Amino acid sequence: MKRAITGFHMDRFQEWVADLECGHKLKMRHNPPYMECPWIGIGKGREEHIGDNVECVDCDMPKMPEGLKLTETSPTYDRNHFPDSMATDFATPEGVWGKVVVKEGMLQFVVEPGGNASRGFLLDPLFAGVMAPELPHSLSPAMGDVAFYVEYYSA
Ligand SMILES: [Zn+2]
Repeated sequence: MKRAITGFHMDRFQEWVADLECGHKLKMRHNPPYMECPWIGIGKGREEHIGDNVECVDCDMPKMPEGLKLTETSPTYDRNHFPDSMATDFATPEGVWGKVVVKEGMLQFVVEPGGNASRGFLLDPLFAGVMAPELPHSLSPAMGDVAFYVEYYSA
């Protein structure tokens, strides 16, 4: 979902982060070809980009309702011990939410693969995936090694 940049700040890693109108944050790193923002280190450059509309992946991720309880935690999976059941059309039962927590590396996470509202995310240790009940999902390792587990929540 496109969101406007309302400002910038530097995080504790000394990297620039854009503040978005939705309250989410986006790390701005000049890293071609993934992200082109050679102006990010320049005050005037940043000023000129306030109001830009950028893609906010946090806004596309389903939101887990508040007040749910953690009921189960899966074992930790990795590239060599990857759960086949999660590779295609994995859905949690009625009333059960899943939180995909990456400990290491990156994981490709698709909500409603093949569907009209299909959307893909790249999960990392700072960005967890959320599985809404009964919705199909697919998980696959992105490049390199990956370690992750799934937490299950219900009311
Ligand atoms: Zn957002």
